[in-house]
Amino acid sequence: MDALIRNNVRSVTPYTAGERPADSSIIKLNTNENPYPPSPGVIEAFKNLSPESFRLYPDAESRTFAKSAARFYRINENQVLPANGSDDALALIYITFFNSGKPVLFPDVTYSFYPVWCGLYGIPYKTVPLDGGLKIDVNDYVCENGGIILANPNAPTGVALTPCEIRFILENNPGVFVVVDEAYIDFGGESVVPLLHEYENLLVVHTFSKYRSLAGMRIALAMGSEEASAHLNAVKNSYNSYPLSVAAQTIASAAIEDDAYYRANAERIMETKAYFLNELDCMGFNMLPSSANFVFTTHADFNAEDIFNHLKTKKIYVRYFNKPRINNYLRISIGTRSDMKAVADTIGEYIKRGRV
Ligand SMILES: *Cc1c(COP(=O)(O)O)cnc(C)c1O
Repeated sequence: MDALIRNNVRSVTPYTAGERPADSSIIKLNTNENPYPPSPGVIEAFKNLSPESFRLYPDAESRTFAKSAARFYRINENQVLPANGSDDALALIYITFFNSGKPVLFPDVTYSFYPVWCGLYGIPYKTVPLDGGLKIDVNDYVCENGGIILANPNAPTGVALTPCEIRFILENNPGVFVVVDEAYIDFGGESVVPLLHEYENLLVVHTFSKYRSLAGMRIALAMGSEEASAHLNAVKNSYNSYPLSVAAQTIASAAIEDDAYYRANAERIMETKAYFLNELDCMGFNMLPSSANFVFTTHADFNAEDIFNHLKTKKIYVRYFNKPRINNYLRISIGTRSDMKAVADTIGEYIKRGRV
């Protein structure tokens, strides 16, 4: 059996996601989900779904959804590719556009799925160290490469690049695809979707999991030039042709139409973030400037992993990464105001006890 496996298997290092506990009394701030429910339009669309419609296969191109998304983002419908979550969109982008044999670049500290797909698809990559302040220096992306992928704002740091900085990367890399994963852009960053009109080497990925409160529905979009989107579509239909389900397509269209609702929730989350950052500051934490719905923080006198474990005993789940450079940081998603008060109070008591 051992030899059978050794000689034939594709060996991979899988992605480890934050825990998904079944106990709903847990305050879950470890995977950056939105604390607010999906919009009234989404709830209505869900109620109006007829199980009879599940009998037939869904529209392979999710055309109704692609049309409303294109209108919302002010791009052509043929520039939009709906996918089953951005993890589906990104995997497709890797196999479609990272084939030069040269290494793909991404930061040493970023979304930990990026190296996983390189491993799975046999794509060489090179990590580019963040600077001393855990920020991306765009000058480090002026070198020969087989493509670039950046999360903006970056995860798990929450630090954002400006469109001007991304423009600099695009200008200096005309021969390769530059992928910008904007999972958290609506919580304080500025999107580069408008740059799609200027740069044919730009691809932008948006998930509906964070800003639009639909992590359980698995909905995302890959956006690029019409030609790039056609290539993505061709690869999608050669590899996994699974379109969005009938339910997901209906709900995705409803979510796009209800932007004012999601905008208001994002504003609330940003206010709660300001409150929580102030609480952390008062307790002596250092924080990176966050343009996302989470904060990345460290304390000079208290060990991050100990705080993580203590919070867990109090049924508060946050994220701790035992990785070089960030192993004394916590990433804490922004929940409701009462969630964040509970976190601040629990950490406050822990620190007070530690000081005596
Ligand atoms: C959450 C997250 C995603 C994944 O989104 P899904 O659409 O739920 O697959 C992608 N990129 C980053 C940086 C994320 O944090």
